Amino acid sequence: MSKQTLSFQAEVAQLLHLVTHSLYSNKEIFLRELISNASDACDKLRFEAINDSGLYENAPNLEVRVSFDKDAKTLTITDNGIGMSAQEAIDHLGTIAKSGTKDFVSKLSGDQKTDSQLIGQFGVGFYSGFIVANKITVESRRAGMKETEGVRWISGGAGNFEVETITRPERGTSVILHLNDDALEYASAWKLKGIINKYSDHISLPILMEKEEWKDGELINPSDENGGRQPGGMVKTGEWETVNKANAIWARAKKDISADEYNEFYKQISHDQEAPLAYTHNRVEGSTEYTQLLYIPGKAPFDLYNRDKSAGVKLYVKRVFIMDDAEALLPTYLRFVKGVVDSSDLPLNVSRELLQESRDVKAIREGCTKRVLGMLEDLAKHDKAPEASADGVTDVLSAEDKAEAEKNAGKYTKFYKEFGAVLKEGLGEDYSNKDRIAKLLRFASTTSDTASVSFADYKARMKEGQEAIYYITADTLAAAKNSPQLEVFKKKGIEVLLMTDRVDEWALNYVHEFDGTPLQSVAKGAVDLGKLQDETEKKAAEEAAEAFKPLLAKLKEALKDKAEDVRVTTRLVDSPACLVVQDHGMSTQLARMLKQAGQ
Ligand code: ADP
Ligand code: MG
Repeated sequence: MSKQTLSFQAEVAQLLHLVTHSLYSNKEIFLRELISNASDACDKLRFEAINDSGLYENAPNLEVRVSFDKDAKTLTITDNGIGMSAQEAIDHLGTIAKSGTKDFVSKLSGDQKTDSQLIGQFGVGFYSGFIVANKITVESRRAGMKETEGVRWISGGAGNFEVETITRPERGTSVILHLNDDALEYASAWKLKGIINKYSDHISLPILMEKEEWKDGELINPSDENGGRQPGGMVKTGEWETVNKANAIWARAKKDISADEYNEFYKQISHDQEAPLAYTHNRVEGSTEYTQLLYIPGKAPFDLYNRDKSAGVKLYVKRVFIMDDAEALLPTYLRFVKGVVDSSDLPLNVSRELLQESRDVKAIREGCTKRVLGMLEDLAKHDKAPEASADGVTDVLSAEDKAEAEKNAGKYTKFYKEFGAVLKEGLGEDYSNKDRIAKLLRFASTTSDTASVSFADYKARMKEGQEAIYYITADTLAAAKNSPQLEVFKKKGIEVLLMTDRVDEWALNYVHEFDGTPLQSVAKGAVDLGKLQDETEKKAAEEAAEAFKPLLAKLKEALKDKAEDVRVTTRLVDSPACLVVQDHGMSTQLARMLKQAGQ
């Protein structure tokens, strides 16, 4: 193919503009992205070579080399992974193939601050090279293709790129960054090593850099030892050394891993700039053996509510990367969890379809679910900071425990705000863990405007004689709070849970009771306040019903297409009338939701 110039897809141009304009504060991530692409390319080669070992050609040792040329102002990242054909270079570096990315670009607002937050959680990939480079040259040859079938791709990052066929003996890819003048600091071994240690230590293949050594400047005037010498400098030795630990973090012993390292790994796999709320790292032994390293993020991704969205757990088999987003490893309602599962039992050529059926995967999924719920229970338990020492409790805590408690305070509230609505899906989805999930739920109530009341809190505050947990569903907190259906409860000082998430109605179909106490919607049927209702009230209602019989009959006739029944009620205090649904009817809330969904 002779040289041709092609245009970037519109979304790419948009993304490029954004990357170069909003990531200035965190330039160095470009190296993480490019090394992660190099590592992905090696993973892909290893994976394809399972069925075709010829792809290794004469270079079975997979590695990444990072080098720079100060004079030419270039920084080059080379891998001997799978490489790209010319068509792949055009497709992968010129268009956005993933639908998730397109969605992402369409969400961009033009406001730098929100956009850079968005982009932070999304991961900018290859185009991040343009943060530091005004031109990028990519040279590549796909494993298994002829030497003459290499490709060179060049772009200045504005609108279009050039591609042409080249001869390239080595398999794999070189990404050559032509550095901006204000990014020349990256043409330094010291600087690059620092960034690699920070972001890429866990990359399980070696990252090599050429060794340098100090060389004194030439003597210009041998008789004047101090004055006649040119300045010295670091020179390359031609010898390469591994600069990362090249050790998968999850395969290391817990005690050797610092919190910083755990957090850094999380940032790497999640593209989140914030630290995670919690993580769990375990080696599970027994009939199914695997290692899990799972994280709970602090922030919801922009497409959290898309149930088809891929999960965030990567699957490895004996440290060989198999796939991203292995949805079979966790139930859908835990799709916010990020991390790695490394199995010792699964075959390397396992497919997504096979995963769905595997008994080992089922065991892993159950194990991971339990761990995540356990992490959440822990966060919930430590959500409140220990009170000063009024009750004497904190006095018995050691300084260490106290610091730990303070560190964890508020985390569950934060988690719940971001992911509570998704967790609720678990009530319907995960029957075996329903009770654990129910305990983790928090709601607003007539005594709390924030979602902080658990069913257990509610039960502990129930009135003498109260036999049910009362709740109301509505679109907004204000609507719930001002519902006429609450009047009698307010009058009697009975707490009512206010449910305003869209999923509440649906989720509550799966929970009829908590710890032996039934749940009762205050908007359904004739609310029976049981022992809370005194005899005189009951009697008055019955008498009124008798006295108003003719009126009720007329109202019923007048509303016959609109209302099933019209009756006298004791549930109102100030309002003249309210709508209720039958005990087993669909609530007004759910009916509206279904209508919105077009059903
Ligand atoms: P992502 O890595 O999330 O897929 P990137 O923007 O980082 O997105 O990369 C886009 C695509 O370009 C990759 O999916 C891959 O197909 C291709 N690519 C990038 N770098 C390399 C490389 N070093 N070797 C082979 N393919 C690469
Ligand atoms: Mg990438």
